[in-house]
Amino acid sequence: MQELRALGYWKSDDNLTWPHPICFVDLSQDPTLQAKVVEYLKKGECWVACAGFSFCRLCGTPNGSYNQTDGYYEWPSGLAHYLEVHHVRLPDAFVNHVCSEPIARTLPDDLAEIAYDVSWWKSQRGWHDGSQVELVPFRSYYDSVGALSLTAVTQPVTAAQLKFVRRFADFSFFSTLALRETLRSGEPLLLQHEFHAAEVPELTEEARALGLTLTHRRYTSREEYLQHIR
Ligand SMILES: [Zn+2]
Repeated sequence: MQELRALGYWKSDDNLTWPHPICFVDLSQDPTLQAKVVEYLKKGECWVACAGFSFCRLCGTPNGSYNQTDGYYEWPSGLAHYLEVHHVRLPDAFVNHVCSEPIARTLPDDLAEIAYDVSWWKSQRGWHDGSQVELVPFRSYYDSVGALSLTAVTQPVTAAQLKFVRRFADFSFFSTLALRETLRSGEPLLLQHEFHAAEVPELTEEARALGLTLTHRRYTSREEYLQHIR
């Protein structure tokens, strides 16, 4: 059996018992050592890709979508961000491991041969209770994305309108008949549930010229976003 230790998984709505990064913030740490740890984390082998992004618990930016490993530890790819941006200092056991300059080992292909340890990480409590840490203003990912929907304002539905709608992946495989019927009914078409606000003005203008109304509604919370994608 090869032991593999979980590292750097933070508390979330789904995992309330994991540690919170705010308790690991240490502004007085040695920057050279910290840089060494960051470099080590970044060069870890990509191990498992995850579905979707993880979000930084301290500033809200999308942060990483896969896991990395050196064969001893296994961590989310966004972990380096916490060190670089938020001055998180990882437990001494890991820092000492990095300083010993271990040679990465390969993990067995058969997952049954890996003894995965989460208890060590779960027992980490950081350096303080976090109450003294001043956070940067929280930038929510949901401030910039939202759902995009489209309604036809002119009748009958034109070929140019259908062509415009088809540009969106959600509708590229829809039959002309189905799209035409929906547009004709006056029901809004939900084009994309995750659309970046920066792209909206130009598309809105293009849609308007074709007799379509494009609506971009920003999400205000993770719950709202999840409701849409489910
Ligand atoms: Zn952050």
